[in-house]
Amino acid sequence: MELYNLKDESEKVSFAQAVKQGLGRGQGLFFPREIPFFEQAEMDKLLAMDFVSRSTAILHALIGDELPEAELAARVRAAFAFPAPLNPVEPDVACLELFHGPTLAFKDFGGRFMAQALAAVAGDKPVTILTATSGDTGAAVAHAFYGLKNVQVVILYPQGKISPLQEKLFCTLGGNIHTVAVQDDFDACQALVKQAFDDEELKQTLHLNSANSINISRLLAQICYYFEAVAQVPAEKRGELVFSVPSGNFGDLTAGVLAKAMGLPVKRFIAATNANDTVPRYLADGQWKPAATVATLSNAMDVSQPNNWPRIEALFAREGWSLKDLRSGAVSDDETRETMRDLAAKGYISEPHAAIAYRQLRSDLQPGEYGIFLGTAHPAKFLESVEAILGSKLPLPAELAERADLPLLSAVLPADFAALRDYMLKTVKP
Ligand SMILES: *Cc1c(COP(=O)(O)O)cnc(C)c1O
Repeated sequence: MELYNLKDESEKVSFAQAVKQGLGRGQGLFFPREIPFFEQAEMDKLLAMDFVSRSTAILHALIGDELPEAELAARVRAAFAFPAPLNPVEPDVACLELFHGPTLAFKDFGGRFMAQALAAVAGDKPVTILTATSGDTGAAVAHAFYGLKNVQVVILYPQGKISPLQEKLFCTLGGNIHTVAVQDDFDACQALVKQAFDDEELKQTLHLNSANSINISRLLAQICYYFEAVAQVPAEKRGELVFSVPSGNFGDLTAGVLAKAMGLPVKRFIAATNANDTVPRYLADGQWKPAATVATLSNAMDVSQPNNWPRIEALFAREGWSLKDLRSGAVSDDETRETMRDLAAKGYISEPHAAIAYRQLRSDLQPGEYGIFLGTAHPAKFLESVEAILGSKLPLPAELAERADLPLLSAVLPADFAALRDYMLKTVKP
């Protein structure tokens, strides 16, 4: 597989290099030079396979011979050890539930495949994973790498801006997992990560690698569950599929659009955001004007400068698609609450992120179409707000119950690169 830097086409890397390096020169994102395309007959065959076999075939077509297919199969089986069921909510709408993994969010797919991919390409060399999280990435990455030898993990998150249970899920592990509560917002955390990658000395000393949605291995893994969704849709509806994706950093949507470029039958995508609506405004008026990030109920989407956007633009341009065909819209916290109550009345307990995707889907879906919204997190992950909004108690899944009473082990730092650098050099021993 050959990838190039979207900011500097002369920088070309292999899959292994892209996985190890994360970002290219000038903080450019890596992007596949070629995207394999499955013709109808091949697609039908793929859609008839089981999740792990099909995902192996998709990833093999993308990655090529850099990873032997048998090894890839074993790694996919280890990473995707839980299902992604399509749960019908209304006659023409279903939720693709991506929250049945160990940290109850879709980020388990990308995080766990990235851990496997890194192990496959880096061997036993020491590495320090540095990543910023608006909540769920941190948990997925921490659990995927916890206890692995030769891997240190540093996770930055905005203090007080993620749910208390979310924090417990990954800030109580210790060992090779170092968590830092930054006294600022997610964009500030993301900026600190970028600064660290610009610091050659730090990069060399700690063998830095990023596990953000910018790492190509995470993105490739996420392509697979769009196929899994379509495989569960009755054949006669497959020509009329609309996906609605609750979006923050736009990694999930990028993976969906890549799946379509590979031939997956999808009529259109909807990018649903909360009040951090840089993309819906941009699609409406062509002006890229990120505003200050605001805190919302759907905190994993509190991102005003979505990192993956250049990949979406590149992909649309390459496929000759118009960005006008990408629907989008922003949903306020009040509308989110109302939608969660509507869904509960229909018998489906949801959480703020999925509710935003459902609302945009409902307002866009046409008669005869079939809509799928992505259930990106388990409702219990946002226990306090879900219980307050629905006025009822939720059972706590074991994954959360077993960590709820453990002490937080995070360091607290200001959003200051010198402080972070100092902390990392003192604490992290690769
Ligand atoms: C990360 C996350 C999102 C946003 O996904 P992106 O790929 O960053 O757009 C949505 N919902 C939940 C629950 C998340 O954790």
